Amino acid sequence: MYQHLKEHQYYEERYDHTIVYLARLDMKSFLNFRDKWHEQSPDNEENQFRNSWHLNNFYMMMVGNKLVDRYNERDQAIRTMMAEDEARDARLSSARLTVEPHCEHCSKTGLRITDKTLMHREGHDDDDVLFMLRCSHCEKNTAIWEDGSLWERRHTKCPKCQSIMKETSSRRGKVIATTYTCPNCSHTYKDKLDLNRKEEPEDPEYEEDRRIYCLQDETIRKEHQDAKVRFEGLIRFAKEHKEKEDNKHIYDAMKEMKKPKIAELTPLLQPVLEKAGYIEFSLDKPEIGKDVFVGFNCLDTESDRNDYESRRILEKLVKKALADTNWRLMTDGIHYRLGYLNGRVRAYEREEDLKQLVMKDKKLKPKRQAVKPSKNDRMTEDPNGGKIIL
Ligand SMILES: [Zn+2]
Ligand SMILES: [Zn+2]
Repeated sequence: MYQHLKEHQYYEERYDHTIVYLARLDMKSFLNFRDKWHEQSPDNEENQFRNSWHLNNFYMMMVGNKLVDRYNERDQAIRTMMAEDEARDARLSSARLTVEPHCEHCSKTGLRITDKTLMHREGHDDDDVLFMLRCSHCEKNTAIWEDGSLWERRHTKCPKCQSIMKETSSRRGKVIATTYTCPNCSHTYKDKLDLNRKEEPEDPEYEEDRRIYCLQDETIRKEHQDAKVRFEGLIRFAKEHKEKEDNKHIYDAMKEMKKPKIAELTPLLQPVLEKAGYIEFSLDKPEIGKDVFVGFNCLDTESDRNDYESRRILEKLVKKALADTNWRLMTDGIHYRLGYLNGRVRAYEREEDLKQLVMKDKKLKPKRQAVKPSKNDRMTEDPNGGKIIL
């Protein structure tokens, strides 16, 4: 028999109940914030546009985004709660006493298990299984943990002399009255425990709040989902904007970098190489994939240059000629055979790659001092976007 695992609906209710509770708190903070905002910036014709744009974003940040997240996480959260309760049930049903229990009162054996419960145990992180047993000889109860140790009854100490007090309880309906008497100094007092379930206070707005905050209403849900996407776009935009501002020296250098076309490589390289004795410069057919590679070749006319020198000098010349462009000599280097040399160059086109090239360049100008944003730096987002009904 299951003790913990309940119907799916029970967990839905429990989850939604928490959502409504949390959303009400968030909403309260937001409404306080909105009131304060309006003290500074009254909602008149002049401010209305700006107020609505800012407040919508604050609403999403403080309330709306969380509603969408919790809506998205609902199924998984319910599955997790159910799995936890199922595990508790499995733990309970597999629990066995490994030692023969003795009656706490008459020390006889042959006790009958009347109940098993998962309970917090002093000094243990996880709950432990407590067995309730009934003695057929003296008709009294004994409580034992799964490992056989006796349940530690918590004693009440006399507030006057610290002796352990005697307890006598009487029960009327669901009210338990306990009388504590000190055997040492005769101090005595009474205590009452009312097990009547307190009536839940009326919550007439609950169903309506649930419809809104749990995004059960399709229109409200769609509005929130769209607003969250816009909000996240805005955050991304602001981050990128800031990164570009912080690294302005890098982006400026990227703009200044020359980006010759393939046809422009020959006039760029040929004259430099010819001057150093490398003739018949020509390009191969470009290899065009994700990146563009172009092979090149030439002939060395200097007869006293050996293989190594010839490759080294050509490498240096090509690197130098391409330094302020987005082309680079491939690391597989230059090959030499009987004065015939060939190698490959590669073009960098993606923004991230260009950025890396610039950053590796030793000539990069130092970072400028932070520039104060100009008054013209306005957000380009549509201020009407993300209007949420409040
Ligand atoms: Zn007994
Ligand atoms: Zn006492």
